[in-house]
Amino acid sequence: MNLVGLHDGSVLSDFYNKEDLLIIAGPCAIESLPQMEEVAKFLVENNITFMRAGIFKPRTSPYSFQGLGEEAFQIVKYIKEKYNLKIVSEIVNIKDIEFYKDYVDIVQIGARNMQNFEILKELGKTKIPVLLKRGFGNTIEEWLNACEYILSYGNSQVILCERGIRTFEPSTRNTLDISSVPVVKNLTKIPVIVDPSHASGRADLVGPLSLASIASGADGLMIEIHPSPKDALSDKDQAIGFDEARNIFKKVREINKILGKDKN
Ligand code: PEP
Ligand code: MN
Repeated sequence: MNLVGLHDGSVLSDFYNKEDLLIIAGPCAIESLPQMEEVAKFLVENNITFMRAGIFKPRTSPYSFQGLGEEAFQIVKYIKEKYNLKIVSEIVNIKDIEFYKDYVDIVQIGARNMQNFEILKELGKTKIPVLLKRGFGNTIEEWLNACEYILSYGNSQVILCERGIRTFEPSTRNTLDISSVPVVKNLTKIPVIVDPSHASGRADLVGPLSLASIASGADGLMIEIHPSPKDALSDKDQAIGFDEARNIFKKVREINKILGKDKN
């Protein structure tokens, strides 16, 4: 592998350096302002700075909820300012970069776009932090090469996110490749987080996989939470409620302390 940027190591952004664990939580998709206010209050109460908030949703079926799209930008702006939260949202179209610069703090590249090299190059020309998810059919080397596209165009603010890969095992939506965490951490200085929600597709597994991820050395998590999981308009089977989320945050913070990684 000839990965120049990765060998040099990425420069982490200021806000990342201040966090113990990079926990990003929120609904799969923005559905309404009341839904987002409930989630925002919960995040603030739990000292979580980063909120996931799907504006445009790349869904497997064209008949599934596609996200509120442009209508959601006003909700994002309101929540961000009122609750002082950092917003993480997936970009699916290069033309949206201009908008995202003003509303979104971390731009997410989803599994389906991990090798959309044109978007990677354009984001590489900006200074916006990028959360690069692993494609479900991609090797670690391909994932790191995708990351290298962003770095080599000049943007060093990259966070990698393992979100499971497709295997022959049908009991989970994907198979969480937990070993990718130490593999990538041994090869690079880029922060790595895990998304146990999309990895498993099952609310009951989000807790155990979160603990395993932090224990394996991950720098954080991206978790789907919803005020009323059974009513979520997208990915309701993997959404967890506030009680469960609170429990997970507490436990992963304890594990991080045991590992001696807390910064306080
Ligand atoms: C998401 O995080 O909203 C998402 C669609 O995940 P992935 O790209 O990993 O499927
Ligand atoms: Mn989702």
